[in-house]
Amino acid sequence: MKEEHKKYVVYALYSLIVFVIFGFLAWLGHYSAFREFINKVEQSSFDLRQSAIVKHKKANKSLVIISVDDASYEYIMDKYGSWPIPRSVWASVVNGLELAQPKYLIFDMLFLKPDLRDTIGDKEFVNAVRNNRNVYLSMNFDNYSDDIRRSPVLDSKLKLKVNDGILFDSEYITYINARCVMKELSKASENIGMINVARDNDGIIRNAIPVFKYKGDYYPNLSLKVALDMLDIDGVTFKDNYIILDKDHKIPLDATKRTIMNWYGKSGTYKHIPLWKVLKAQKEGDNAFLRKEFKNKVVYIGTTATSLSDVKSVPTDSNMAGVELHTTFLNNILDNNFIKKVSMKVDFLFSIILSLIIGYFVLKTTSVLKSFVFLFCVLGIYYIFSTYMMLWFNIWLTLVIPYISVVATFVFIYCEKYLLKLKDYEQTYKLAVTDGLTQLYNHRYFQEQMIINTNNYNRYGSVFSLILIDIDFFKKFNDTYGHQSGDCVLMQVANIIKKNSRTSDIACRYGGEEMAVILTNTSKPDAVTTANKICDAIRAYDFVLANGQKVKVTISVGVSSCNINMKPQEIIERADKCLYKAKEAGRDRVVSEI
Ligand code: GH3
Ligand code: MG
Ligand code: MG
Repeated sequence: MKEEHKKYVVYALYSLIVFVIFGFLAWLGHYSAFREFINKVEQSSFDLRQSAIVKHKKANKSLVIISVDDASYEYIMDKYGSWPIPRSVWASVVNGLELAQPKYLIFDMLFLKPDLRDTIGDKEFVNAVRNNRNVYLSMNFDNYSDDIRRSPVLDSKLKLKVNDGILFDSEYITYINARCVMKELSKASENIGMINVARDNDGIIRNAIPVFKYKGDYYPNLSLKVALDMLDIDGVTFKDNYIILDKDHKIPLDATKRTIMNWYGKSGTYKHIPLWKVLKAQKEGDNAFLRKEFKNKVVYIGTTATSLSDVKSVPTDSNMAGVELHTTFLNNILDNNFIKKVSMKVDFLFSIILSLIIGYFVLKTTSVLKSFVFLFCVLGIYYIFSTYMMLWFNIWLTLVIPYISVVATFVFIYCEKYLLKLKDYEQTYKLAVTDGLTQLYNHRYFQEQMIINTNNYNRYGSVFSLILIDIDFFKKFNDTYGHQSGDCVLMQVANIIKKNSRTSDIACRYGGEEMAVILTNTSKPDAVTTANKICDAIRAYDFVLANGQKVKVTISVGVSSCNINMKPQEIIERADKCLYKAKEAGRDRVVSEI
């Protein structure tokens, strides 16, 4: 490839890289589908990291779950013949459990409307709730404004007490309707919290909603309500995207005013005691069992049966009962153990640092393998680093943005390096084939080209001719004007030869003051014409010496052409013979073979 063509290829590659990077950034910014994709990958990486670190975390042992599992559901259908369980049974569960002195009994269940078949049972349950101040009940909000249900006015005692600050309106915590416990229960107890959960776009639950906004007031999440009572705190403060309970307990909020939970394990992290065992123990008067399992425990009661379809996907498991999410949230509040996502600024800072590291290394190393190994080391080490940051400091460092910038830098620097190398190689090659004095091709290149052109002729019939040039009486010239003036003339002769030949011609310094031109795709008559042109031009030219003196120089020229089965050497010899004849005939002329 010609040198200038190569330069264009390099420019084209540069522009392509710049174009690709800008295109990529534009794409990143404009296509929400792509942003969503990045989010998804980031969330998956969060799930992976969470799953990796749970083995180092300890869940609170005083939290236990009475689970309405599949076996309990069957047991209840067997013994009571109906689902939901009659309220009278719940009343006796509460009263029976209280004998075992649990710290709290928290129902992750909705007791909404009076049971018209069993008003006595309702009364018993209401009494059980009224008599035991450690019983908590659930409600939930929704956004269905259907006609049957008018959005209720909630009792003011259910509100979250806010000592200071406000949360700005956020669609993520604002609701328009509520599903309320039956009236008598709401009169009997103020221990009521909300149990809504929030799924991400991919259906996985990573967040809890600590407070809810309904008709301008705030209402607490069930577990927040319990936590406030456990910690003996009567109100919260909203400040700088935190819900502050006290100096040791703060709940960070993200942009959606939700909280990223920190997981302690898969489903079953908290001890599950099936409801049927509780019912059986109560029936058999096995108080020892009840005391052993529940004394001083924070007891959540919720469904875990898959037949009651209360399963959720969380980072650490694809099936987790809703009640375990609430238990986890309470555990997070008590341990002050929430995940905080770092700001974009921090992510960009890490991206820049990592990109600089990878860029520096790729520039320094010459080995392709080493570069790739280093790339994967950087990606791997950052992954491990981010995992430990999550474990030790509860920090969620973004992985995708630094990864993209590291890989983009790697590719860019690699291409850049390759282009620089290409340029370097070009220069070295040029030096290797060029004569330093005349800037014509050197003898070695001439010999190579003779072989190539001869082969092309023999294979494809592409004819070529050879012009050999020798300066007349040059020894005498040197003797008269000095060797330096001789060099000066050589350079000027070379320029005239170049000027009078085509770009496809290969002008070389054959040796000493002899020069050669290989004329590709040129037959002998055309070569003779070119030779004459050069000869005439030299004769007409006023050569200027270093001291400004003008002199005349002539050349003798021999021309030959390729012929069937000729070797390169033969073609050169024939041209040389013609050159000799030109000298014989009086110099300053062109002689070609007949
Ligand atoms: P002619 O060719 O006309 O028969 O006479 P000539 O004196 O030119 O004879 P020849 O071609 O044998 O001359 C070779 C001379 O060219 C020898 C040397 O002085 C001169 N020469 C060869 N290479 C260089 C060079 O690089 N620089 C200079 N200044 N002179 C060179
Ligand atoms: Mg000579
Ligand atoms: Mg000569």
